Amino acid sequence: TYVIGAGCVDVKDRACIEECPVDCIYEGKRMLYIQPDECVDCGACEPVCPVEAIFYEDDVPGEQSNFTRYNAEFFDIA
Ligand code: SF4
Repeated sequence: TYVIGAGCVDVKDRACIEECPVDCIYEGKRMLYIQPDECVDCGACEPVCPVEAIFYEDDVPGEQSNFTRYNAEFFDIA
């Protein structure tokens, strides 16, 4: 799955939502979240994010590693 990280907090540009072919990016209060069971790993969202907040799960920077869990927890599937 792809993961939305710290860069999205209080930004929520939403360009990724337009790109996602399966509509698995959802809006929370302060950031957007990717539903990990619905993401088909197409990668379309990653390059359109203006703040480079989106990573493939294996590429999430160490200091943002908690965000993999935050994305899942938003959907109660951590
Ligand atoms: Fe949607 Fe593809 Fe991004 Fe997954 S990788 S959230 S399916 S655009």
